[in-house]
Amino acid sequence: MNVLIIGAGAAGSVVAKKCAMNPSIFEKIHLASRSVGKCEANQKWIKDKLGIDIGISALDADNVAETVALINKIKPDLVINMALPYQDLAIMDACLETKTNYMDTANYEPIDEAKFEYKWQWAYQDKFKNAGITAVLGCGFDPGQTNIYCAYAQKNLFDEIHEIDIVDCNAGDHGKAFATNFNPEINLREVTQAGKYWENGRWVETHPLEFRKMINFPQVGEKAAYLLYHEELESLCRNIKGLKRIRFWMTFGDEYIKHMEVLQNVGMTRIDPVLHNGVEIVPIQFLKTLLPEPSSLAEGYTGKTSIGCIMTGLKNGEKQTRFIYNVCDHAKTHEEVAAQAVSYTTGVPAVTGAIMLAKGLWNPGPGVFNVEQLDPDPFMDEVAKQGLPWHEKSLENGLGELTERRQKYAA
Ligand code: NDP
Repeated sequence: MNVLIIGAGAAGSVVAKKCAMNPSIFEKIHLASRSVGKCEANQKWIKDKLGIDIGISALDADNVAETVALINKIKPDLVINMALPYQDLAIMDACLETKTNYMDTANYEPIDEAKFEYKWQWAYQDKFKNAGITAVLGCGFDPGQTNIYCAYAQKNLFDEIHEIDIVDCNAGDHGKAFATNFNPEINLREVTQAGKYWENGRWVETHPLEFRKMINFPQVGEKAAYLLYHEELESLCRNIKGLKRIRFWMTFGDEYIKHMEVLQNVGMTRIDPVLHNGVEIVPIQFLKTLLPEPSSLAEGYTGKTSIGCIMTGLKNGEKQTRFIYNVCDHAKTHEEVAAQAVSYTTGVPAVTGAIMLAKGLWNPGPGVFNVEQLDPDPFMDEVAKQGLPWHEKSLENGLGELTERRQKYAA
């Protein structure tokens, strides 16, 4: 497969390196990004450590004509979009114009509104069908691997799944007072918005991080997790049969929440332009400039991520709860590809999805697909080989009702 990776940040670097570690599948690799220096650093690492040559280019993927020109030059079989959600539609347009398959790890979000939704990308269904090309949406960890855990459970473990709780813990320590594990702008936009979950066919809104639960995470132990809205809920509530409720939980330390709330209270997470000394600036973009780049956290990062899906449903008429999860160690991923575990757990599923397409193990035909619509079994085998082994166990019960409200929202 000839692959073009767009975005040489924390997660994109992992995709480039892991593709290079599978030379029998990825015969040609090209990495393009806004700052070509990041592409050069990856090119050098890949040459020095793996002896593989990859191509690189500077690219502004907001500019469709520029991306079309690069695709026409490289002629990739697949474009893996590892830039930011803002670029999704522009890159999909370039893929349409050049009739090239597309994959990403995060759904489109307009830059001037902190609202991510699949509707913009699902609207490409007919265009992709007519062009005879395939788009695979959300092939990172969450969304991505978590959707595939649900699809695997639907296919192999349950007759009907009634409740899903996606539980995401990063119990790592990067030694910084405040930093985000993926792009700071995208991360803060996600965490500061209202929460939402899906129950009995409708969306229920919550205040930002209103509900909290202590969850026992494998290999990590009990941590406080907060209910927030995450994009995979939107596709899973359509694609998992019999579903009655789906929620998403993420752990945050007290220090993270304290910093985030102060930044929010003073207006530093605002996404609208403000006039500063006669110049328009967007506070969250300025904040991103000040915060550490997620890729820079890798060195010295200790601890583990522990992420998975707790699912309750019926098998042969009996109620069961199953937990499928992965645990990933920051120090080990740093040793392997000089990246922290959040970037690694994002990049490895994307590479695995590309392997599925290259081998024809995912062959859905033309159109736009979320990953849970594709066969989970070969993916689950391959992703374990690529560095994300998964585990499955039975639990007595699911997570149960929402009980603990954060102090500031207590009635
Ligand atoms: P980074 O900020 O580290 O990387 C983003 C990269 O995209 C940067 O190198 C940036 O360039 C580049 N970029 C930004 N705008 C453009 C543009 N217009 N044209 C070309 N390149 C551009 O973020 P991450 O690597 O942490 O995240 C990358 C993506 O992965 C995001 O969409 C994020 O939402 C997604 N993600 C998905 C997860 C999942 O599990 N599904 C988990 C974590 C992340 P520059 O260096 O010049 O700024």
